[in-house]
Amino acid sequence: MPYHRCLALVTETPIEAPTQEAPEAAVRKFRIAVLPGDGIGPEVIAETVRVLEALQPKLNGVEFQFSEHPCGAGEFLRSGDPLPGATLRACGDSDAVLLGAMGMPEVRWPSGTEMAPQLDLREQLDLYAGVRPIRLYNPAHTPLKKSGIDVDLVIYRENTEGLFFSRKNGYGKDVLEVRDTLRISRRASERLFRAAFRHARRRRGLLTLVDKANVLPSMAYFRSIFDRIALEFPDVSTERIYVDAAALYLVQKPEAFDVIVTENMFGDILSDLAAGIVGGMGMAPSGDIGEHHAVFQPSHGSAPDIAGQGIANPLAAILSAAMMLDWLGHEETKRGAELIQRAIERLTADASFATRDLGGSLTTAEMGRAVADAL
Ligand code: ATP
Repeated sequence: MPYHRCLALVTETPIEAPTQEAPEAAVRKFRIAVLPGDGIGPEVIAETVRVLEALQPKLNGVEFQFSEHPCGAGEFLRSGDPLPGATLRACGDSDAVLLGAMGMPEVRWPSGTEMAPQLDLREQLDLYAGVRPIRLYNPAHTPLKKSGIDVDLVIYRENTEGLFFSRKNGYGKDVLEVRDTLRISRRASERLFRAAFRHARRRRGLLTLVDKANVLPSMAYFRSIFDRIALEFPDVSTERIYVDAAALYLVQKPEAFDVIVTENMFGDILSDLAAGIVGGMGMAPSGDIGEHHAVFQPSHGSAPDIAGQGIANPLAAILSAAMMLDWLGHEETKRGAELIQRAIERLTADASFATRDLGGSLTTAEMGRAVADAL
């Protein structure tokens, strides 16, 4: 996590200058690059920016400077590039990036895969850890029958390699087989594990490695790296489970997990499954975090099935913005993250505070306004 130095105002007290005005407190400006993207992306991001703008006057000595940039499948149709160089540069120059959602099912590369500039951004900015908190805000949100479950876990997904490694390879006409590569490197695994251990240490102190070490050599290697890094964190308890069992336990006993760390593709799948047990994709925020940059976005995609109807749940995007404020690391932005978190806790305590995905009838804008007002 970068250390943003607050501008300490160093003033020397003049011996004889009684009429001099008191210096104004320094304002720390945070440049936030906003990439609304495709489908419901612009809808949920509009509400997120509304919440951040409502929050701003409540924070002392910080200012958000938003700049919007084009990105996504729609941008590909306009300019031929889903991630224009100017957008990438703006992301690199900003303090943090807030992203909506990318992709349109009908806009694809010749290989048949969808445009996914958010994946390019992760790779270009080296955002190695995909951090996905999963929390049940109201028991009415879960499809699980068990009563009294308290789901509060975080998934750390490796973001730069794994089974996504060869995703850009196409395949020739009339080929008889196509292979994908699952890459596990020591460097990417070590830094991911260390980040997950540090996070587990700040929570309940349990880290679960999810792999497939019983079948795949790459996963046995992944586990051996985990075992070695675990020695650096003797205060954190560890578990190792196979990905198939992880899917089972996430449904049967999700309350047993604290922090999960796993490979890119496993993390992709398990985080959707985990979102499913707390109300769906509209309740699942995420942050893609590297050494110097971070992108915050809801875990969901562009949801073309509901785009343009004003019914998308903006909470995943708003909670992602809260993660961003926490990551920015300033005392006041961290307080802002808490304020958003607590406002959402208060509002969701009432099960009727719900968009359609949660069984309610609020629109995206009504929910966004309610969070902004609750601040
Ligand atoms: P991607 O692969 O790009 O992550 P996806 O194909 O997994 O996307 P999503 O776009 O995340 O799919 O949508 C999955 C389902 O969840 C859809 O039925 C969609 O309507 C629903 N959904 C996603 N986000 C939201 C949201 N914010 N509010 C309500 N429903 C949502």
